[in-house]
Amino acid sequence: MITRFAPSPTGPLHLGHAFSAMLAHDMAMAEGGTFLLRIEDIDGQRSKPEWEAQIYDDLHWLGLRWEEPVLSQSDRLETYRTVLEDLWQRGFLYPCNCTRRDIQAALSAPQEGAEPRAGPDGLIYPGTCRHAKPPHPNHGTPMPPMPENAALRLLLDAHFIHLAEPRVGGAVFGFQETGPGLRGDIAFTVEEAIATIGDIALARPDFGTSYHLSVVLDDATQGVTHVVRGADLFEATKIHVILQKLLRLPTPIYHHHRLIRDDQGKRLAKRDDARAISKYRADGATPADIRAMVGL
Ligand code: GLU
Repeated sequence: MITRFAPSPTGPLHLGHAFSAMLAHDMAMAEGGTFLLRIEDIDGQRSKPEWEAQIYDDLHWLGLRWEEPVLSQSDRLETYRTVLEDLWQRGFLYPCNCTRRDIQAALSAPQEGAEPRAGPDGLIYPGTCRHAKPPHPNHGTPMPPMPENAALRLLLDAHFIHLAEPRVGGAVFGFQETGPGLRGDIAFTVEEAIATIGDIALARPDFGTSYHLSVVLDDATQGVTHVVRGADLFEATKIHVILQKLLRLPTPIYHHHRLIRDDQGKRLAKRDDARAISKYRADGATPADIRAMVGL
């Protein structure tokens, strides 16, 4: 078993991160497996070396050890670009200059009728820029240089039926889930994916990649067999499974764990500095106290 903890160095680790990291670590250790650390720093604006240093410090203090080397996504931008280039040549991407406001406006135009719907990656894109789509497959049209103005969106259409697995009742995408309350064989059809996910951005203009593309490629490169992470990413897993099929990568087993909430029942966020591990440390808590607080 190979698990990983994949924080973004954009703020302090809090109790929710501690739970995720300890659970992924404990699951691997219980099986004599390997625990990995990956630094998800594609957001060059918000990622800071001091937060990264704090991540190492907090995780060491918690008693976690991981196999070296640690993978940093900022070292992998060339790889992401090569994969985007391949998808572009295969005709699965198109450039899009819509702002969030454009998307909102297109979705709330009277002819659309319905309220804008949110998918796992924000508002479901209405397909405004699909007309800019290069031929399918893409006979040598060059991909726009990146990073620049345009995002690159995945053309999620009926072609995907060829990537789905034929089952009684229709072709589906699927993955194994072992998280509490979600456990089982999760399956969804291409039509459901088109309706609930839509044309997500695989390269954002400011990063030249996206969380979804990078996480899928890195889990495969690192040989991760069990992805352990918060239940807030359960729906996004559908995007990841589709990308794995498109890129001919294996689908790991997913374990989406419960979220650690504050006293008001709200999920902890990076800005909840009061719950930062470093704050508890400074107040004299021990790693055992942290384990007890998150119910491990
Ligand atoms: N960098 C992501 C986060 O901090 C990791 C998500 C994942 O584990 O896939 O939320």
